[in-house]
Amino acid sequence: MQIISGKELSAKLKAEMAKDVATYKEKYGRLPKLSVILVGEDPGSVSYVTGKAKACEEVGILNETIRFEEGVSEEKVLLKIAELNADSSVDGILVQLPLPKHIDEDRVISAILREKDVDGFHPLNVAGLWSNTPCVVPCTPKGVIKLLKSQNIEIKGKNVVVIGRSNIVGLPVSKLLLNENATVTITHSKTQNLPQVCSQADILVVAIGRAKFVTPDFIKQGAVVIDVGVNRDATTGKLCGDVDFEACAPKTSYITKVPGGVGPMTICCLIENTIECFLSKF
Ligand code: NAP
Repeated sequence: MQIISGKELSAKLKAEMAKDVATYKEKYGRLPKLSVILVGEDPGSVSYVTGKAKACEEVGILNETIRFEEGVSEEKVLLKIAELNADSSVDGILVQLPLPKHIDEDRVISAILREKDVDGFHPLNVAGLWSNTPCVVPCTPKGVIKLLKSQNIEIKGKNVVVIGRSNIVGLPVSKLLLNENATVTITHSKTQNLPQVCSQADILVVAIGRAKFVTPDFIKQGAVVIDVGVNRDATTGKLCGDVDFEACAPKTSYITKVPGGVGPMTICCLIENTIECFLSKF
């Protein structure tokens, strides 16, 4: 069994991006810039946004965090997005989700110019992904593919089972895996005999949001397991994935850990998307 470290891979990729970015000022006259909108004080969201800002600094791209109080009106957020859309020095706009209930997330995401939608959540980017036309690819799914490729794990022709069908993870990662010629089964909360379905998988991608939900009976001997989940262990209070790592790891050939697996790759791909949005202007 080998652990695929997203922490190590993302450090390597960020160092490579930093080298390129260091040449941009001279080549293009300016640096890429990411603007992040954060509404409210949710500790999880604050920590994600802080992590994103830190990664921008590591790679040498400009970043700003625009903070609004929890009660801010939707109109005010939309106005800020319009301002950032019009600002030619801003290459990427990210609205940290979730937003408070009184703000319509779909309306806010749709207001971002698709060319600046570094999360890849804009309907036109979603359509691009599913119709195989140029688009911004969502960060977490992109990171999952990079983790697999970093170990030269063959995807073509493999049976891949994805648990979860969200717009953010399950669906786009399934499409990316299909693009890599895997045979993909998408499962969800209504799937019957889930452990049995999963136990057929050469590669199992888990994106549910339930601590240690996946147990060894879900796993085929020698399978590759990618754990996207981020949860708090009810007993220890520590971060943990959707996979019971200690129990499952011995059955796998490769497995990711939480933290240190998919999470750092999501941030790394966000930086990559920002750079791609920047480069597409030249
Ligand atoms: P989500 O929108 O809540 O979707 C969860 C999916 O899991 C749904 O499709 C749901 O099925 C399915 N599910 C729930 N209970 C299930 C069960 N008992 N059996 C089988 N399927 C079940 O969550 P998400 O946004 O995709 O996120 C999933 C997890 O990944 C969360 O822990 C989140 O924090 C984490 N995440 C991590 C990163 C990262 O960078 N590491 C990024 C994004 C998300 P239905 O569709 O039938 O309801």
